[in-house]
Amino acid sequence: MKVVKNFHTHCSFCDGKNTPEEMILAAISSGFTTLGFSSHAMLPLCENGTLDENTIYDYIKEIRSLGEKYKDKIEILCGVEADYIENFTTPDKSYYKKFDLDYIIGSVHFVSTPDFSTYISCDTSIDALQEGIKRFFDGSVEKYLRAYFAAVRKMAASFEFDIIGHPDLPWKFNEKFPYFDPCSSWYKDELILTADAIAESGKITEINTGAISRGWLKEPYPLPDLRALLIERKVPLILSSDAHASSGIDCAFDRFAHLATVFDWRKQ
Ligand SMILES: [Zn+2]
Ligand SMILES: [Zn+2]
Repeated sequence: MKVVKNFHTHCSFCDGKNTPEEMILAAISSGFTTLGFSSHAMLPLCENGTLDENTIYDYIKEIRSLGEKYKDKIEILCGVEADYIENFTTPDKSYYKKFDLDYIIGSVHFVSTPDFSTYISCDTSIDALQEGIKRFFDGSVEKYLRAYFAAVRKMAASFEFDIIGHPDLPWKFNEKFPYFDPCSSWYKDELILTADAIAESGKITEINTGAISRGWLKEPYPLPDLRALLIERKVPLILSSDAHASSGIDCAFDRFAHLATVFDWRKQ
């Protein structure tokens, strides 16, 4: 079956390469019937490539107006990919309600340090990640990754949002720059705990092909080990491309469509 809806898309309002209109035109020519925009938001914080308290209004206005312009060709939705960083920001609908968005993807891209003085990015650069682990997690990758998965579990259990984004994002660098062993028992334990928490939350989780289009991985998130645990627990799975450029709008959708069990977060 061909998947013709994608709810995870970035554009020039955050860290995407193309304008929203270019993304829409690419989606139309790829045969999509629904395209959802999900620019990065970590309000009230703001980092490079994320919306802030002002640009979020421009973003929503632009997406809504393009939705109107292309309504006969494609359904356009406006959401955000909102961060969970313990003690700093949450993807909760109660906070984002004032923006009248269509949906929220909750993702962990940053892990709070044990003293909550700052947070370390999982996916900006391997050097920054390793420096952060050295400085704030006693050089222990295990401590860092346990904190990452604990954050995913807390996010799934504690906040109201629609889709869980890439729940094993730390895999991004691990194929090219291996820094943890996915066969270690502590890693497997974390995956089981995380799969249990996601299943318990009842939330939809993505099959996210974004790291394939950007050349980091050959498999989508979640990788086969976590994916198998989610399938075993009958967690609803939705395919998304996490496209940061129009060329990746339907990246690997043909190869991984069979993994999707939900095609629209509004209809489970
Ligand atoms: Zn993300
Ligand atoms: Zn994304």
